[in-house]
Amino acid sequence: MQEKRAHCVCGGGPVRETEKMNYSYQRQVVLETLRALKQHVTAQQLYQAARKNCPRLSLGTVYRNLNTLVEIGQAGRVCVPGEADRYDWDPHPHQHFYCRACKSTRNLELPTAGLEAELAACPGVRVEGYHLIVTGLCEHCLEQG
Ligand SMILES: [Zn+2]
Ligand SMILES: [Zn+2]
Repeated sequence: MQEKRAHCVCGGGPVRETEKMNYSYQRQVVLETLRALKQHVTAQQLYQAARKNCPRLSLGTVYRNLNTLVEIGQAGRVCVPGEADRYDWDPHPHQHFYCRACKSTRNLELPTAGLEAELAACPGVRVEGYHLIVTGLCEHCLEQG
């Protein structure tokens, strides 16, 4: 038995031992950590952050729960070619910018009405969605020269 209860990010209060590692509880920890970070993080990065609060979490559990959160529409996934997937605290459709130098991912404000009209007019296909990853250098890396 653990003497010291880990302080968890979810809910704040102490959790009964039997509830401590059940599936919905773990998912909540993963989701709360993602929302607290407010960054586009890899499963590994999220695992490192979540473990500070819940040392018993495993990387496999974090992966599984992140995928479930994406499936049920509570988190987003950003697929960066050749890189580990990033997970997004904001599940609503939006576009991303990827910096090739520091490998960071950020949201990109982009007027997409024109693009959506073009996509809807694509011959021979029915477009159901899209996800843009715009690549380049972020302002921080531009300053580094
Ligand atoms: Zn950068
Ligand atoms: Zn995003």
